[in-house]
Amino acid sequence: MRLRRTIYRATDRIQGPPMAALLVAVFIVLAVVTRLSCRDPNGNTVFWPANSAMVVALMILPTRIAVPTLASCFVLNVGLDLVTHYTVFDSLLYCALNIAVSVLVAFLARTLCGATTDLSRFRRLATFGAIAFLAAAIESTVGEILDPGGSVKVQVLNDWLQWTLCDGFGFLITTPALLLSLGSARNAYPCDAGRLERWGLLLGAAILAAASFRFTQSPSFMLIYPLLVLTAFRAGAPWVLASILLTSLISCSLTTHGYGPLADHTASDLLLGQGMLQPFLVSIFLCAVPTNNALGEKRRNARRQLRMKDAVAYAATHDTVTTLANRDLFRRRLGALLHTPTDCAVLFVDLDRFKQVNDTMGHGAGNELLRAFSTRMLAIAGPEATLARFGGDEFAMLTPCGPTSRGLAHPDPEALCRTIIEAARMPFLLTSGPTRVPVQVSASIGLAVGLAQSWDGSELMRQADIALYAAKAGGRDGYRIFCDELDRSSRDRARLRADLEAALASGGQLRLHYQAKVDAGGRPRSVEALLRWQHPIRGPVPVNQLISIAEETGVIVRLGAWVLREALGFAARWPTLDVAVNVSPVQLRHPHFVEDTLQALRASAVPPGQIELEITETSLMDDLDSINGKLATLRAAGLRIALDDFGTGCSSLRHLHRCSVDRVKIDQSFVAALGDTAEAAAITRTVIELGHAMGLQVTAEGVETEAQRRYLVATGIDEMQGYLFAKPVAESALDADLRQPRRPAPLVDALMRQP
Ligand code: C2E
Ligand code: MG
Ligand code: MG
Repeated sequence: MRLRRTIYRATDRIQGPPMAALLVAVFIVLAVVTRLSCRDPNGNTVFWPANSAMVVALMILPTRIAVPTLASCFVLNVGLDLVTHYTVFDSLLYCALNIAVSVLVAFLARTLCGATTDLSRFRRLATFGAIAFLAAAIESTVGEILDPGGSVKVQVLNDWLQWTLCDGFGFLITTPALLLSLGSARNAYPCDAGRLERWGLLLGAAILAAASFRFTQSPSFMLIYPLLVLTAFRAGAPWVLASILLTSLISCSLTTHGYGPLADHTASDLLLGQGMLQPFLVSIFLCAVPTNNALGEKRRNARRQLRMKDAVAYAATHDTVTTLANRDLFRRRLGALLHTPTDCAVLFVDLDRFKQVNDTMGHGAGNELLRAFSTRMLAIAGPEATLARFGGDEFAMLTPCGPTSRGLAHPDPEALCRTIIEAARMPFLLTSGPTRVPVQVSASIGLAVGLAQSWDGSELMRQADIALYAAKAGGRDGYRIFCDELDRSSRDRARLRADLEAALASGGQLRLHYQAKVDAGGRPRSVEALLRWQHPIRGPVPVNQLISIAEETGVIVRLGAWVLREALGFAARWPTLDVAVNVSPVQLRHPHFVEDTLQALRASAVPPGQIELEITETSLMDDLDSINGKLATLRAAGLRIALDDFGTGCSSLRHLHRCSVDRVKIDQSFVAALGDTAEAAAITRTVIELGHAMGLQVTAEGVETEAQRRYLVATGIDEMQGYLFAKPVAESALDADLRQPRRPAPLVDALMRQP
């Protein structure tokens, strides 16, 4: 059962009572036509297609409808036989055998040929032919045993053969024709002929058969062959089979009435009353059906190839996740718009927080988000816009704008940006395990507007990209329009990026400064290594700008490794000081970060406990589990981890609770506000208490005044860093006393020489 289902297609058209009525009608028409007009002088019917209607009923109707259909056919068949002078015994016997053979054929065809709606394919048709003749042979054997047609052996054999061929051809020619003609797919067969031509060929075959069998003794019936072959070439399988069925009916009918070339050449009561008729049926069948099959297969292949070509072309120009256009198609549409007298707007749209959704909820939810967002954008974009996904969370929209474009364009691209931003802010329902949860994101947009026929596509895309960068740098969840100032600052950053690469390669312009950190008693215990870049033309570059450029380009990985090596060298030379090294989130995400760090540590022979890595909260916002795993490995190796700038991220306490660190560093903004706001004091005290409760050390950054120091010491701070004690200075400017083994120290500004 299972095997059959996998190999063969099950019936695809379960039909109701109207189809049953139609099949009963077909049965009775075929039965009447053949019973009345295809009977030879011995009283035998020579071609019996009627049973096919019952086979088709069994193949395409549900059993509860097929059974009454067969019963109706049986009753009508018995009635017809009685009217045409059969005995009651013969009528009942033949009709019962007709039912039995139809059930057998339908069962075998369903089991061995599978497809119930299309038996025209070569393998199925050949199998069906074998089934038809086998079943007919069984039927006639049973029939001859129960009611032998004659007393002489030869005559019994004659009758048996006649019966088998008559019913076998009936099935073979008619069943596939009926299945295809009644099916909804009858016009779906690959074919070159139009509707009119198909009908012309069908009627042509009928007229030619009638004319050549009725009116001539000449071999003009031979023209039936080329006409059927022509039908096979031009039309689909249903039409070929229907033509053969009509030709068979007409030729059988006329031959049994003594007309036409076949009757002329057959002695009436010899072996097979219509000796030439059966071979004629076989020959017209064989001349047309295999040809049509082969051609159909070719046409199907051609169609398949065309479809594949279309699919490949579609895949090459569309994004698979959202089905939006891809970058290539977007460029082409942009190029096409160049030639129209229309202003146009290019929007580069970036989904903020997409990476987080992807990392925390999985790629399935990430894709859902992309699809849902693209649906919202499509609804906003309107019919004249092109929407594309460039990859990741980057989308782009191209839309005509201004008065010239048939009223469908967006007159105000800025309003369009605002609408998109609003739409992005609405929560998205995404799958998370068995449930769907609302997720909030936002969008950043860069907008560039091109005036009619005065712009070029690549330039417009570059401008939108620069504007998008500015929108993201400006805090996300907003849009920026491209302007010359943005262009200047972008070019400036590009130059700085190149200079940084050069600086890293030469090594001369980069240095580390060290800022001492003191304990509650004012004793210097450790230093933080801080990067400095002395640009040959610009002078000192602000370190925040330097880090953000390095992160953008990925140079931060090499730069961070250089900082670590330098800091380890320093730690080896200053064994009494712990050294804190800053680590960027981009570095931490790098797959080899842990391995490379431990390798550098081993190479330096510095004790791991002397090094502390400072990470920021943004590092933890990406993928807490994976980052925590890395931190745990580093801590297991003896390194310590500090959470820098604590309090500036949005979910600090949650992270503090869940992540694997040894120290928190209260951000300098809280320390700076200590004297000013009650909240700052409360937050600082809470963090210190909370940190201690969790077994962590707490450092305060940016301590500049004596009042701040006093408050922090009174609240139980472990460590302080700030200009009050020391500024970041080059290694050479550090006080040599710091090399001494730890000792109680007087105040620190005496220890450190200012640069
Ligand atoms: P950070 O890690 O929080 O470093 C402390 C920053 O506060 C330093 O700024 C330091 O000079 C400054 N600072 C220290 N005491 C005071 C004070 O009393 N008052 C004020 N107003 N500021 C004080 P800097 O050197 O400009 O570094 C800024 C940030 O750049 C650092 O913040 C750190 O996040 C990053 N950074 C510095 N060097 C590196 C590095 O090698 N790698 C990475 N990834 N980031 C670094
Ligand atoms: Mg730091
Ligand atoms: Mg800090």
